[in-house]
Amino acid sequence: MTKDAPVSLAKAVWRGFRGRCPHCGEGRLFPRFLKVAHDCDACGEELFHQRADDFPAYLVIVLVGHAVVPAILAVEMAYAPPVALQLAVWLPVTLIASLALLQPTKGAIVGLQWQTGMHGFAEAKARRDCADAGSTSIEMTDSHSFRRHHPA
Ligand SMILES: [Zn+2]
Repeated sequence: MTKDAPVSLAKAVWRGFRGRCPHCGEGRLFPRFLKVAHDCDACGEELFHQRADDFPAYLVIVLVGHAVVPAILAVEMAYAPPVALQLAVWLPVTLIASLALLQPTKGAIVGLQWQTGMHGFAEAKARRDCADAGSTSIEMTDSHSFRRHHPA
């Protein structure tokens, strides 16, 4: 596969989940815990267009909540342990699971935004689409739309 081959949505999301650049899969997406790199240090793809905002946190709450709450209820129904023991187990489990999932989830969202051309990624996506379509050039008509020029 060449570097310019189209990247599928699943591949872009998976690369982001692994903390890699959605475009090339090589460069690091996160120089710090939740700080997305300005651009890829391997391929130069601009990554600062991402607008993941609070969405990764919402997803992590949904995922961890749907795993931990049924587990707490099942343990309570089966064994009825003391509340202090439940807290001593489930609070750290919840905290660790949330922190462990936060960066991969944010990476996956950045991969999704990059592949679908959301926000500032629209121009990069239009360039990729043109490159895939053959020898066409692109002109930006306003901040969110593009006009393709096909050679006569
Ligand atoms: Zn890259």
